Amino acid sequence: MDIIVLQPGASEDALKHVLKKLESKGLKANVSQGTERTIVGVIGDTTKVTEDEEDAIRAITGVENVVRILKPYKLASREFKKENTEINVRGHVIGGKKIQVMAGPCAVENQTILMDIADKVKGAGATFLRGGAFKPRTSPYAFQGLGEEGLQYLAAAREKTGLPIVTEIMDPRDLDVIVKYADIIQIGARNMQNFRLLLEVGSTKKPVLLKRGLSSTIKEWLMSAEYIMSRGNQEVLLCERGIRTFETATRNTLDLSAVPLLKQLTHLPVVVDPSHGVGKWDLVAPMTKAAIAAGADALIIEVHTNPEEAFSDGEQSLRPDFFASMMRDLKQIANAVGREI
Ligand code: PEP
Ligand code: MN
Repeated sequence: MDIIVLQPGASEDALKHVLKKLESKGLKANVSQGTERTIVGVIGDTTKVTEDEEDAIRAITGVENVVRILKPYKLASREFKKENTEINVRGHVIGGKKIQVMAGPCAVENQTILMDIADKVKGAGATFLRGGAFKPRTSPYAFQGLGEEGLQYLAAAREKTGLPIVTEIMDPRDLDVIVKYADIIQIGARNMQNFRLLLEVGSTKKPVLLKRGLSSTIKEWLMSAEYIMSRGNQEVLLCERGIRTFETATRNTLDLSAVPLLKQLTHLPVVVDPSHGVGKWDLVAPMTKAAIAAGADALIIEVHTNPEEAFSDGEQSLRPDFFASMMRDLKQIANAVGREI
């Protein structure tokens, strides 16, 4: 038993009764009060509940159905919540009709460069500013990010442009400082299964952009979202950023089939990162268009004013003028699939 569906118009008492019953079995509940009906997601080891006990819950007045779902994730599933989750960040809604565009450098390098990029992406129509202050680098000798100083520059750029900021957390020890500055906390591909980190961001009230792990299945990815949601934070964005395959001609293989599939499996918004998906700037625009056609709710794209001097990911970063012209082209694609950008 994983989900308990109440009848439309069921009384408060019915809900209380159900919650008490769950409590008596050592289980917790996540109550979703939709426009039509209330759905209770059961949290804890539901395998211990016998079929007889399930029948007894079915008998409670006001209970319409008790469902045992086969999928190991629950709060993230479409069964649990039919309507798309919309996440409102400073007035920008992710998961609605409008496709949100998060753009900016891979890493925050210094204040002047960041401000310049922020101004330019804003001018081109981006709605969020991205930029890492804590960078997960393959080499310990590579630029690791500016830390809190970088977060301060992001906050200054937000102040100037009004763009909310998306930035990565790598270590639970940085949670307080990231929460202080970020509007959306990014969990990078390398940390998708850092379960302690997932639990920590799950106990904040900040939306979390959860990138797909380098070699993670959709199920593993949704289980990671479930970790965050199980702690009470329901605002998770799933970001496809390419997976490892045998192919080395592109940096990763951008799995765009994940987009419509996730739309079936989950109510959470889906973001596509074509930059890390392909690793080459001249392949970013076509894959961005394809991502919109596939149903992405948001895009996250690396932009740099001087890619040849970038501290990281210069090869895949768009110049601002190219980003601006791509943004103009995207409007037609968005309209063709009933979206706005
Ligand atoms: C990034 O966004 O710059 C980044 C490091 O992404 P990923 O975790 O997808 O590699
Ligand atoms: Mn990057």
